[in-house]
Amino acid sequence: MRYYSTQKQSSTVSLKEAVVKGLAPDRGLYMPETIGQLPTSFYKEISGMNLTTIAQTVARKFFGEDIPQDELDTIVADTLSFAIPLRKVEENIWVLELFHGPTFAFKDVGARFMARMLSHFVKKEQEEVKVLVATSGDTGSAVANGFLGVEGIHVFVLYPSGKVSDIQEAQFTTLGKNITALEVDGTFDDCQALVKNAFMDEELNSQLRLTSANSINVARFLPQSFYYFHAWAQLMRHNPAAKAVISVPSGNLGNLTAGLFAKRMGLPVERFIAANNRNDVFREYLLTGNYSPRSSVQTIANAMDVGAPSNFDRILDLYGHDHRTITGDITAYRYSDEEICNTIRVTQQQTGYLLDPHGACGYLALKEGLQPGESGIFLATAHPAKFKETVEECTGKPVTIPEDLAAFMQNKKESIELPNDFSLFKKALLRLS
Ligand SMILES: *Cc1c(COP(=O)(O)O)cnc(C)c1O
Repeated sequence: MRYYSTQKQSSTVSLKEAVVKGLAPDRGLYMPETIGQLPTSFYKEISGMNLTTIAQTVARKFFGEDIPQDELDTIVADTLSFAIPLRKVEENIWVLELFHGPTFAFKDVGARFMARMLSHFVKKEQEEVKVLVATSGDTGSAVANGFLGVEGIHVFVLYPSGKVSDIQEAQFTTLGKNITALEVDGTFDDCQALVKNAFMDEELNSQLRLTSANSINVARFLPQSFYYFHAWAQLMRHNPAAKAVISVPSGNLGNLTAGLFAKRMGLPVERFIAANNRNDVFREYLLTGNYSPRSSVQTIANAMDVGAPSNFDRILDLYGHDHRTITGDITAYRYSDEEICNTIRVTQQQTGYLLDPHGACGYLALKEGLQPGESGIFLATAHPAKFKETVEECTGKPVTIPEDLAAFMQNKKESIELPNDFSLFKKALLRLS
């Protein structure tokens, strides 16, 4: 399969090149040239299939030409070694819990898959690949855990000192092995700028083989389509006639885009709902046809604090830039911190289900957008204990931290402190490599 850039100003590349490069030279995002259909028989049998089998079938459509089937099957099986259950919250409303992976958030799926795919492509090569990732918290933990112990790859996580939660910090500073945490005296934007400068630095690139584990990477975003099929399959077991509507808490729109790919492969989802917090440029685009990216504002659903969603161009490309067909498949809603907080409290009181701030947006949007005759699924993108302080403030009740999550806090923190200075960062990279 060849991959083209959404900017259409550079030539098509192989899967390997798309994965190793991440971004196209013209700054566009890579898209597969074709999106294969799965046969009707697959959809007839899907409700009897387990997650791994479903995902292996879907993965072969995307990556089957480029990776031998037994290896691809292993990559998929390794990625989905945890459960992704569909639970009923109330009549006609279901939640797909994406947070049973090692760092208790949905980014684990994409990060693990990308780690294994990148390793498949580079492990036989002499030179180790250095993955650079800047994080405001969640991405760093998912990438660090996804890449932990993976052959041929070393990960450097850059994070703003004192600006991530204790649990998040523990998830990428206590791992050791091929994971190095760089604690930068600066903000998340400073960390991101250091990483960007590293990719543009000629000397560094001539000495080290650098790549990013950014969410725009095809190996991180495409595997997120797997669990949409699993969600639908589980819903069919309960109600074979259900008209499914899926609500996705959205920031950079990677998760939603993966869902749209699943629909394009024939998954009979009626439509999607994008749930925004106050950072609602995507909702605005759907309503008006105008896209005006801007700086993000801080909210309690902070993994969705995105003012210029990086996967927006993929959605435009997938729909041939046609606003009408896009709005036929997707509607969007937005929520304030107060609405999110109230929802967490009231939902726990009324149903017993504890939402995290991101899942709460998905739930609210589903309640607002679901039409008579439809069955709704919302994605719970993080475990509520990851946002313990916020959730406790909303409910007034203590949140128990799962043992595996608490276990990160037991280990010793190791990080390398760095001032916000590119030449010192560069020296450190060369010294540590
Ligand atoms: C990253 C993230 C999101 C947003 O996902 P996108 O693919 O960026 O739209 C939502 N919730 C949580 C918990 C996240 O970590």
